[in-house]
Amino acid sequence: MIHSLIFFGGGSSSYFLLIIIGIIGWLVQNRLKSKFEYYGKIRLKKGYTGAEVAQMMLADNGITDVKVISTPGYLTDHYHPVKKTVNLSEPVYNSNSVAAVAVAAHECGHAVQHARAYPWLKLRSALVPVVQFSSSLVTWILIAGILLIKTFPQLLLFGIILFAATTLFSFITLPVEYDASARAKKWLLEKGIVDTEESKGVADALKWAARTYVVAALSSLATLLYYLQIYNSRR
Ligand SMILES: [Zn+2]
Repeated sequence: MIHSLIFFGGGSSSYFLLIIIGIIGWLVQNRLKSKFEYYGKIRLKKGYTGAEVAQMMLADNGITDVKVISTPGYLTDHYHPVKKTVNLSEPVYNSNSVAAVAVAAHECGHAVQHARAYPWLKLRSALVPVVQFSSSLVTWILIAGILLIKTFPQLLLFGIILFAATTLFSFITLPVEYDASARAKKWLLEKGIVDTEESKGVADALKWAARTYVVAALSSLATLLYYLQIYNSRR
């Protein structure tokens, strides 16, 4: 998710950086879409569906209190740590493609992280309430802070600190995402759900999914720099 940006002039070099990251983000999204279309058409030789693979991976990791459910939409797949559900989008839940199996195993990777108290996931979960609070206010505080920059610069600084929490969150998300994909790839291959050739497809699809998180984190950092540059160029 890219933060809606307020352009007030000033901070122009980091604004330029943001435009470049925006273009890269668009390219990565397109690549991800075409990769998922491609691997969505390749049927798994063993024929398991996303739902079946998710059930097997949870059971195999000794996880009995997490449900696998179908959720509407496209690319809406996620693990819900409070409800303890692996939510698979309808196409992933029912499909036996390489892409579907990759996504299903990745989401179960998050359930395994939760069960094993993976530290980066714990840290990320602890930050969720902070980020929810921050994202509901941060845009307004930043706007007010820029408008009042001459009289009350502390307000913009406060907005920047709030925004920095969301930037930190987007970077903590990276090890969580890469680790979930690593767990998925390892398990799928070790258990013979995929063969070596299919495993390369799984890795390729998950690589592009992870890159969207990298772009989001970089975009958040560039946005933070942009506001810092405005703050530093006051008076
Ligand atoms: Zn994930």
